[in-house]
Amino acid sequence: MTEAAKWIVKDPAEEDVYWPSKEMKKRAWISDESIYEEAARDPVAFWAERAREGLDWYKEWDEAYKWEPPYFKWFIGGKLNASYNCLDRHVKTWRRNKAAIIGVREPIDEEAKVLTYYDLYREVNKFANVLKSLGVKKGDRVSIYLPMIPEVQIAMLACARIGAPHSVVFSAFSSDSLKDRIIDAESKTLVTCDGYYRRGRPVNLKDNADKAVEGTTIENVIVFKRTGGEVRWAEGRDHWWHELMKDAPLYYKPEVMDSEDVLYILYTSGTTGNPKGVIHTTGGYMTQAYWTTKWDFDIHDEDVFWCTADVGWVTGHTYNCYGPLSVGATQIFYEGAPNYPEPDRMWQIIENYGVTAFYTAPTAIRMFMSWGDEWPKKHNLSSLHLLATVGEPINREAWMWYFNTIGGGRCPIIDTWWQTETGGTLINALPGVGPFIPCVAGRSFPGTRHEILDEGGKPVGLNEGGYLVQRPSFGPGMLRGVYKSPETYKTNYWSQYGNEAYYTSDGARMPKEKLFRLTGRVDDVMKVAGHRLSTAEVENAIGGHPSVAESAVVPAPDEIRGQVPWAFVRLKEGEGSDELAKEIRSHVGKVLGPTCRPDKIIFATDLPKTRSGKIMRRILRSLAKNEAVGDLTTIENPACVEELKQKVGHKAAS
Ligand code: ATP
Ligand code: MG
Repeated sequence: MTEAAKWIVKDPAEEDVYWPSKEMKKRAWISDESIYEEAARDPVAFWAERAREGLDWYKEWDEAYKWEPPYFKWFIGGKLNASYNCLDRHVKTWRRNKAAIIGVREPIDEEAKVLTYYDLYREVNKFANVLKSLGVKKGDRVSIYLPMIPEVQIAMLACARIGAPHSVVFSAFSSDSLKDRIIDAESKTLVTCDGYYRRGRPVNLKDNADKAVEGTTIENVIVFKRTGGEVRWAEGRDHWWHELMKDAPLYYKPEVMDSEDVLYILYTSGTTGNPKGVIHTTGGYMTQAYWTTKWDFDIHDEDVFWCTADVGWVTGHTYNCYGPLSVGATQIFYEGAPNYPEPDRMWQIIENYGVTAFYTAPTAIRMFMSWGDEWPKKHNLSSLHLLATVGEPINREAWMWYFNTIGGGRCPIIDTWWQTETGGTLINALPGVGPFIPCVAGRSFPGTRHEILDEGGKPVGLNEGGYLVQRPSFGPGMLRGVYKSPETYKTNYWSQYGNEAYYTSDGARMPKEKLFRLTGRVDDVMKVAGHRLSTAEVENAIGGHPSVAESAVVPAPDEIRGQVPWAFVRLKEGEGSDELAKEIRSHVGKVLGPTCRPDKIIFATDLPKTRSGKIMRRILRSLAKNEAVGDLTTIENPACVEELKQKVGHKAAS
């Protein structure tokens, strides 16, 4: 590769502000900001045009958008199939022989499994026939419990081809979590595998699956052979993937689906409470998946896109499956751990495959940072043209490290705000438009509108904190309901501001006209002596101290000031001391002012996280209030809760 292009330029006047370079503007799909105004003039017409241009429809819709509060529909009467849009239309072109998925295996000496669009097309067709042979029909739910191997996209797209909504369950979830989700979805079919590799060790997944299906509606279990390890077998119920596939017919005619037919059900991360079964339908979701992939990550045919999210989360659904495949992109899909065999595995993959756009989470970035710069420095990362993040607010330290150490100071960072509920990204900078500013996600995606409101529903002024909402017409990829729980749908999203606005549960402020800065979950906002404090901003300031790896701030009750911030801090190394606590407090005081200084600093070896890597502040909040810590089923590291209980002298029963 010749000298790496520079994709961004620094603002000449403003600290920490970057813009797309001439080269970026030239390569970007969107480099003229007039797109925002154009879309805002008639968002429904804008999305209808996108749906027409981006997707193949069997029949065009009769009406583009309908709002029957609190429900809305997109492309009513339109007919399409998601799998057709990800496969059939590409195999009719030169993309037939293009790599669709580069499945990188964890064992370093195992060849990647590369599937061209034609390979994927063939496997999906066959697997759709396999599902049919086991009695799966349009409308039946299929549970999928698979690790990060390309068979997961094969299974998902085969379901989409039949019109059977899938419910993918994260492979690191326990058998109990899988069981709950199977019961909720009432699936009769489960797709799983014998096992997979994690840090060099084979993990037996079939054991978990066996326990989970007992006493449920599951009649058939399809098992892909990945590790060849020993598994228990229930004759009649269990079937080997390869045996069923051997004679499966090569073509399955895609089911003609209504735009509003369910594509999948997916449960949220459970950061704030019990996971919700979010419903996504076909036409609107696919439209948003297609255009956000293309415009946010600026994906062209020659690009290699890598989204590191596990397919068990919405990011994996939209940006490891439906988005990149509908645009005809090449993507990396990595099975294993980021530090196996060494902490440079990610950077080695980027170098080996010439990855051009890389999408990961702040929690991963902080982990890479703590492993040290020597690991990325070993590799040539000059193929990258764009970096992106999702999942949590990204603190300035992590942003700068990502920007400089991974991006070589050449690449924009696209900080995408969105939710399982929104189906695709909604707030972020576009690579050819900018600006790129640490901690600022950016503007509403063209054709969507967000506002920040106060408790009474009035928009707040510039720089004032408030509640982030979405205004109609709602993004086409938004949820259409919560599975079997219309009440949850109404109370979670439509009770705060009635039908005037979709409530996101996130706090935000606008540092500049139209630009959104996310300030943390609404539940975590605290009032200290009458001042509203945002957790993300205090955490950002704490993260500026050189000894801190990451932190989580929560309110603790205080007789005089109402609430005071407590900070749980994980250090880069060492144990922490009173001296260091004092230093961190005064550092925060200097950056944000004395009211923001944490009252108490608790040094911890680990912070409680969901399995998607997000900090569970609700647990810390309960510790600070001396209340029971509540449901721990979605936690990754339960042992750390015990350590923290001891440190804060927590007495409440769990
Ligand atoms: P649950 O709703 O079950 O508590 P969850 O909200 O963590 O779980 P997701 O849908 O996976 O489930 O996460 C969406 C949330 O993640 C957003 O509402 C927001 O709080 C946070 N988030 C995602 N991306 C960003 C971002 N770029 N900046 C700030 N916060 C983000
Ligand atoms: Mg949520």
